[in-house]
Amino acid sequence: MDRTSSSAETEEVGARIAASLAPGDVVLVSGELGAGKTTLIRGACRELGVTDPVVSPTFTIGRRYRGRLPVSHLDLYRLEGLQDEDPGLLDDYLTADAVAFLEWPRAAEPQLERVAVRVELTHDGGDNRVITVRRT
Ligand code: ADP
Ligand code: MG
Repeated sequence: MDRTSSSAETEEVGARIAASLAPGDVVLVSGELGAGKTTLIRGACRELGVTDPVVSPTFTIGRRYRGRLPVSHLDLYRLEGLQDEDPGLLDDYLTADAVAFLEWPRAAEPQLERVAVRVELTHDGGDNRVITVRRT
């Protein structure tokens, strides 16, 4: 468990997680709005060599970045489930060569085969966050 009190510290936690990832790994990142999911993923992406700005995907469920390896960043906030969606919806993002980070992963969880890490962020007053990182 980590406690952070700034976005920079949360980015550090993300970077530490990224250092242990391999192609094909999927990282689920949960927590309320504003908990720091995108911030943590930004830190992870930097560690993976991504230089493009890392912001929440809007108008699309995900983005692909180029780093030392391909990096996918998905935000499934608006998805209730995948049963009414195109069955290939995630295929462009969850590729064997890429590391993938999923915000609001619940809708996709039943069909994910290779979850490497689960991260949960919670508010703890002001700029404080509690972050739990579980490797699976
Ligand atoms: P989410 O993706 O979970 O909705 P974001 O990462 O987009 O959250 O936003 C988190 C917001 O909280 C940012 O504005 C960030 O600057 C702020 N913040 C303050 N303290 C922290 C912290 N300890 N960790 C992460 N973000 C923090
Ligand atoms: Mg976000």
